[in-house]
Amino acid sequence: IQSKLPEISTTIFTIMSKMASAHNAINLSQGFPDFETSPKLIELVHQGMQKGYNQYAPMQGLSSLRECIAEKTTELYQKKYDPETEITITSGATQAIFTIISAFIKEGDEVIIFKPAYDSYEPSIQLHKGIVVPIQLKAPNYRIDWKIVKEKINPKTKMIIINTPHNPSGTIVSEKDMLQLAKLLKGTDIILLSDEVYEHIIFDQKKHQSAAKFSGLADRAFITSSFGKTFHTTGWKMGYCLAPKALMTEFRKVHQFNVFCSNHPIQYALAEYLKSPENYLSLPNFYQKKRDLFLSLIKDSRFTCTPASGTYFQLLNYSKITHEDDVAFAERLTKEHKIASIPVSVFNLNHQDDNVLRFCFAKNEDTLKSAAEILCRI
Ligand code: PMP
Ligand code: GLN
Repeated sequence: IQSKLPEISTTIFTIMSKMASAHNAINLSQGFPDFETSPKLIELVHQGMQKGYNQYAPMQGLSSLRECIAEKTTELYQKKYDPETEITITSGATQAIFTIISAFIKEGDEVIIFKPAYDSYEPSIQLHKGIVVPIQLKAPNYRIDWKIVKEKINPKTKMIIINTPHNPSGTIVSEKDMLQLAKLLKGTDIILLSDEVYEHIIFDQKKHQSAAKFSGLADRAFITSSFGKTFHTTGWKMGYCLAPKALMTEFRKVHQFNVFCSNHPIQYALAEYLKSPENYLSLPNFYQKKRDLFLSLIKDSRFTCTPASGTYFQLLNYSKITHEDDVAFAERLTKEHKIASIPVSVFNLNHQDDNVLRFCFAKNEDTLKSAAEILCRI
């Protein structure tokens, strides 16, 4: 068989979760909560089913859900998206990202991405014969050097993908970063894909800088978000994307033949649940407590870190412990010490290894305590 993705093997999330389960290790690798979502939200899904939302949803998504998202976006980012033409409900952010790339990237188009990067971007670009133009961000701050971005932009640049709060580093971009990006993109036709799935998971009173807030970006941007992250339901695979009408029209041309529509009763439930803003406004406090607990429990360990500013991931540097490569160390931690993490080099350019591992702290207090006990013994 001639592979369309000869360099791609199984995603690290599957590898590490499988290894964790095979070795009975605490799984802080793949990002998902080990606690349940709200019973109220589950009840609303039942209600949706009982009320008969059991056939295809509208292709673009349930109008009540799109209206709630429009309201939320206006409230949080002072940007009005038309629910009819500028908001589409997707089966997770991954489907939105794939569909955006599919709708716009053709052979020879260049797409700038920042490494380490969420692992779905690159194969999605390659499948459409686009050229990945990676820019390596440097540990420990993972700041974007806009001078380098400027050098990489040329007439073949079709798209730039940014991700804030950033998986796996937990860093966020500043207002100044977004203004710099707007300045660079001015006068070009470059599409921005702003992956904002962790938009509500941000700490220390910091503000999420959505592309929606910047007129020079919003008018060329797709913004993706994920209900999996926001409502602790990664297994439901529900998300949405926002974009100006002209871009969204092209998106929907692909979306209608890709999935056609997303889960109907869950859309009903999400629309009802979004009516209480507290359900997402409580997230910074909820996850900051988990981050702080995890960091306080491991403060006497030999791991070092810069606290995450957002996401539910914490990078830990282990160079005081060993200089093994991160893949080998992550494997050894899972098999011998019974704790699974994600080696960051798999997301880096040329698999550059900074001796850091990613740990997911979207976990119950007991899980975090057991994990910290192990980490303190290493
Ligand atoms: N982008 C980033 C940066 C992510 O971390 C994730 C979740 N793994 C996604 C997109 C995909 O989100 P979903 O699970 O909704 O497809
Ligand atoms: N986004 C999750 C992570 O970064 C996992 C997504 C997946 O398993 N594909 O861990």
